[in-house]
Amino acid sequence: MTTVGVVRERAPGERRVAMVPDVIGRLRSTGVEVLVEAGAGTAAWFPDEAYEKAGAQVVAASELYQAADIVLCVSPPEQPVRDGQALVGLLDPLRRLDAVRDWARRGVTAVSLDQLPRTLSRAQAMDALSSQATIAGYRAVLVAAGAYSRYFPMLTTAAGTSTPAKVLILGAGVAGLSAIGTARRLGAVVTAYDVRPQAKGEVESLGAKFLELTSVESGAGDGGYARALTGAEQQALQEELDRHIERFDVVITTAQVPGRRPPVLVSAGALAGMGPGSVVVDLAASELGGNVEGSEPEQAVVRDNGVTVIGAGNLPASMATAASTAYARNLNALLAHLVRDGVPHIDPADEIQAGVVITHQGSVVNPAVANLLDALGGGL
Ligand code: NAD
Repeated sequence: MTTVGVVRERAPGERRVAMVPDVIGRLRSTGVEVLVEAGAGTAAWFPDEAYEKAGAQVVAASELYQAADIVLCVSPPEQPVRDGQALVGLLDPLRRLDAVRDWARRGVTAVSLDQLPRTLSRAQAMDALSSQATIAGYRAVLVAAGAYSRYFPMLTTAAGTSTPAKVLILGAGVAGLSAIGTARRLGAVVTAYDVRPQAKGEVESLGAKFLELTSVESGAGDGGYARALTGAEQQALQEELDRHIERFDVVITTAQVPGRRPPVLVSAGALAGMGPGSVVVDLAASELGGNVEGSEPEQAVVRDNGVTVIGAGNLPASMATAASTAYARNLNALLAHLVRDGVPHIDPADEIQAGVVITHQGSVVNPAVANLLDALGGGL
């Protein structure tokens, strides 16, 4: 029988867990036995006893890494998985090439949900990027509302009427649409922009106004994603946005381009033009930079002109119960696809597996990761 092991996440600030008690029953029905590392769900409010009650066995890390055929994680563990084991999670292989080489050399089957072909309808239940981005977009609005010292909704009270907050969302993908819906539910007046013209209809269907800009005709790229803009387009877009941003109280940025640095959309000049008390939340903030000039992950800075700039960190981890539950369902859907009659069937020719399987039987089988390794030279 195949044994699946759920590890305790150890990255700083991570509170999520890859599997939750509610999903253990469904996972076991695929014919696998489930081990959970002691304390794995504690930070997401899932005690060890809840896993035991659901039919899993709670064990120490050493036993888990020894006994599991498939290790489930959110981010790859520091502890090396053993030769021949399978590792399933959000492995971020394009940015962890040393780990990819190591997995390949040791015959580890590395399966990464961030490489899922997301447009396939049968892959949607496995789409962890979307489930986590939905939470990040929701949470970004709550972070902004917490830092904003006025109301989001229009309120009429005996003490007078408050005007609603004017919120601008830049990037209307999964996180951006979730942010639009949340800001609207809080009563803000919401405007949004995306370089993909297709986003206009989605923005409007959520009751927000689409910001019509002229500097980029269409930024749509492959597979429903945005393409990288040319330097001239990027410059023109930033200048055009500079002229609009100052009239908003709250700006939330979510713009990404796969495999690239996030584009800068809110320049230092735009920040200087915003009024005191305004709040900017950059969901794209990372070590590589973000959408807001000068933003840093996990940092809130109040600028000299009274504008608060918040670089979001791992927002899904700040809502760990919901994030873990959605992620566990995504993993369960993937495992139901990979495991038949209790036995994993790795077939890189399968459309879904062609994306998610990164290394298998000593080779790098995911084309995007293999191409990147080739381009960098040196092989495995
Ligand atoms: P993402 O996180 O890569 O990017 C977020 C958004 O930023 C995207 O909408 C992108 O167009 C936008 N963006 C990039 N550069 C920009 C710029 N310079 N200015 C303004 N906006 C910019 O994307 P995502 O949220 O993961 O998804 C992107 C697309 O994939 C969407 O069309 C989404 O609907 C689609 N998608 C489809 C499925 C499916 O078919 N099942 C699943 C998930 C996502």
